[in-house]
Parts: sequence; C-alpha cells; structure tokens
Amino acid sequence: MSIKENYLRIREQIPEYVKIVLAAKMRTKEEIEEVIYAGAEIIGENYVQEAEKMYQELGEEAKKVKWHMIGGLQKNKINKALKIFDCIQTIDSPEFAEVANKRAEKINKIMFVFIEVNIGSEMTKAGVKPDYEIIEKLAEGIAELKYLRLEGLMTMGPRVGNPEDSRPYFRKTKNIFEKLKENVSNGDLKYLSMGMSNSYKIAIEEGANMVRLGTAIFGKRICDINGQ
Ligand SMILES: *Cc1c(COP(=O)(O)O)cnc(C)c1O
Repeated sequence: MSIKENYLRIREQIPEYVKIVLAAKMRTKEEIEEVIYAGAEIIGENYVQEAEKMYQELGEEAKKVKWHMIGGLQKNKINKALKIFDCIQTIDSPEFAEVANKRAEKINKIMFVFIEVNIGSEMTKAGVKPDYEIIEKLAEGIAELKYLRLEGLMTMGPRVGNPEDSRPYFRKTKNIFEKLKENVSNGDLKYLSMGMSNSYKIAIEEGANMVRLGTAIFGKRICDINGQ
C-alpha cells in the first residue's frame, strides 16, 4: 500500500478528534510530500538539523503543516528549533523551559510545549519522572512563562514486545493528564500524545488524542531493516 493509502486508511479507522503526528525521521522529501498531499496536518521530527533540511526542501509545502519536535532537544539547538517548530513535545525540566522561554522572547514567538513524561521510569529514556507532584510543579512553572503555552503531555512508554503491555502505562499517563487539567492554573492542556505504530489503538482506548506514527504509514525505516 502507498503512503497515501496508509494514511487515509488509518485516518478513517481512528476517531476524528485524534490528531496524527507523522514521525518523519529518516524519511525522504518525497515521502513527506506524499503524506502532506494526503492530508497530514502535523509532522514530527526528532532532530533539529533533519527538520531544518526537510523544511527547506519542502518549500511552500512545509507551511501547510504544523511542525512538532518529538525528540530530545539540546540547549544549543533551541534557537534553530524555535524558528521551525510550532510545538516542542519534549520539555522535561524547569531549566529547559526557562531557556526556551528566554529565547522565544528574543524572537517574539509564542511556543507551544508539552511535558514529556518518562512513564516507565526508564534510565535510558528522557522525560520527567512519573511523579505527579514533580509534573505539576513543572506545569505551574511553565504556566508562568510568558512565551510558552503548555498544551499537552507526551510519553513514549516503555518498549514492550506486546503492545497490550503498554496499556497500564498509558492509563497512568492519562490519569496524570486529567489531574493536571483540573489543577494547573492558566493552562490550556488539550493534548495527550501517546501511542506509536504498534500501540496507537491501545493508546486511543486509554485516552490519547494525539498519536505519533512512522512505520505504520511510511513502512519500515531502512535503518531498522538493516538492524542498525
Ligand atoms: C519514531 C518515533 C515515533 C514513531 O515510531 P513508529 O514506531 O515508527 O510509529 C513516535 N514517537 C517518537 C518520539 C519517535 O521518535
């Protein structure tokens, strides 16, 4: 099946309120173009450099979609990131939020951000510890920053063999999300970004309203096929 067919089929299958972020790492300009023509609204990038290159290559097409940073961001890349991205889904510390806010102020751009939660408490994963108090404190801190708008929570969830095993982690993230929505002042918390190609159906059942899809739409990444 083509990228367009994959996109349209999944778009049909999932509820309308669920946003799809197209995870674009390692994809070509042609692949991204095809999915934009098919109606994609949000492109997710893991690396600033790759995003910059794609954005330039796409020209006018790039402006038809929103760009979300879904990978870890280094402080020295924030300036470039702020120019390209509409949203950074990977805020995981007050320090990082403050730096991003200062840089956004300099270019007078309001930046949408999500807090990334390391819901499985994995050593190797980015994100805030899944401790409600810590997350709320970070959210309250962001709410005070003039150039950032906290709009969501994002989680990768642990990599598990059977997607069903992700369910409890998704459920836990949803609980945190609901509690935050009630408690954080001045917030506009709307999106719960969780679920990837192998787990998006379960994530949606557990309350995700944004899923991030790569292989389900574009096919296997070459690097995965080579096992690199
Ligand atoms: C690559 C990636 C995805 C999508 O992964 P697939 O399994 O290809 O759907 C989602 N989120 C993040 C942060 C990613 O890096």
